[in-house]
Parts: sequence; C-alpha cells; structure tokens
Amino acid sequence: MPLDVCQLPLVGGHPALDLVNTLERGAPPVDGYQPHDFLSDTSALLRWTTRVGLVSDAEADRVGRAWRDDPGAAHAGLTAVRNIREELHLVLLATIPDADGGAAGAQGGPGWGDPIAAGAALVGLQERWSGAAARATLVLDRGDPPEVRLAYGSVAAMLVADRIVESVLDVLLTTDLTRVRRCPLAEGGCGWLFLDQSRNGSRRWCRMADCGSTVKSRRLTERRRAARAGTR
Ligand SMILES: [Zn+2]
Repeated sequence: MPLDVCQLPLVGGHPALDLVNTLERGAPPVDGYQPHDFLSDTSALLRWTTRVGLVSDAEADRVGRAWRDDPGAAHAGLTAVRNIREELHLVLLATIPDADGGAAGAQGGPGWGDPIAAGAALVGLQERWSGAAARATLVLDRGDPPEVRLAYGSVAAMLVADRIVESVLDVLLTTDLTRVRRCPLAEGGCGWLFLDQSRNGSRRWCRMADCGSTVKSRRLTERRRAARAGTR
C-alpha cells in the first residue's frame, strides 16, 4: 500500500525538490501503468504543503475554508501545483549532465532532459510566477532590523500554488544547480531528485538506507549467483 503523503520521505534538501518527489518517478510508463501521485487530492496537497513548512497551520485553515467554499478553485489550485511540479522536473532534468547515464530518455519517456521541453517549461513557470507576483504584497516588518519583504499568497484559494512558485523560483535562482542529482534509474534507483550537500559532492542515492542498499543487496545476490554458476 502506498505511503500517505505525511510519511513520504523528504530527501530533496529543498521543498521544491521534495515537490518533484511527490510523484513516483521510477517506473517507465508502459501498459497504462500510472505512477503513484502522493498529491492525490486537495487535502493531501494541503497536508504536504504544511508539512514542508510552505504554509502555516493558520494559513492552511484559511485555505481549507476557501477551498470548501469553492471546489472549482480548489481543483484549480491542485492542477496548478501538479503542472508546476512537472515543469520544474523538466527544467531540473535539463540541468543534470547526462541524467542517468544517457538512459533518461528511454526510462522517462520523450522530452526528459530535453532543452526545448525545459524552455517551454520555463515559459510555463514564468507565467505562474507572474500570476503569483500579481497577488503578492510588499510588507514592512518593523523588527530589529526592520525589513521589507515580498509576501506571496494574499488570495487564500491560490496561496498554496503561489507559495510553491516562490519556492520553485528560490531553488532555480539561488541554489547551486550543479548539486542537483537524480537517484540513478539505470542502476535501480528511484529517479527522485535531491540536492547533494555532501562536502565532496559524491552522494548518489536519494536514501542510502533505501535505494542504495536495495541495489547493493541485489548486486550481491547477482554476484553470488554468477559465482555459483561459475563453479558448476
Ligand atoms: Zn532513490
């Protein structure tokens, strides 16, 4: 049984990368198989967004009320987030040199790691950001030191999508994109993305305890089988 969104491992190192990892990325789309989407409905989306800290509990209550009053707006919010997620995935794949040792296209379907698809995805993200920016407000925090900040999410029904766009822009504009990795599909990994924050930049697996050790134990079994075959 698939995990609930609240048990989903957060391995991305940034909420925007964790967003990409709310969809199963490993299995190639064959025989009508649909990868599992942890953002299965608006309630799962709201729980996930609160869990990763993009909205506060009070804001989640406000969004929940707005979505109950207007199911169409709720659906639009979920659709927007799913589209943002796929657009970000396409852009990030294009930043990973030779994503998955050249097997990305075969494993992921057409368009993966493709600069034209990534360019189209950036246009989509820019449109979503300009919508979010139009709803954002400049706020003066009179703390010590005082600061003025751009607060996204003034419209409750679009607050979740707008905060997610803000997070996506943050990862694209302020992080070192040479640190974005993909858990290697061609070697039995899951295809999730993460920021490699290890000092020497050598992290390969999204979760060593999970993907890395599964692959290692399978290799060991294969080696033993080959050794037994060799001694016959
Ligand atoms: Zn993995």
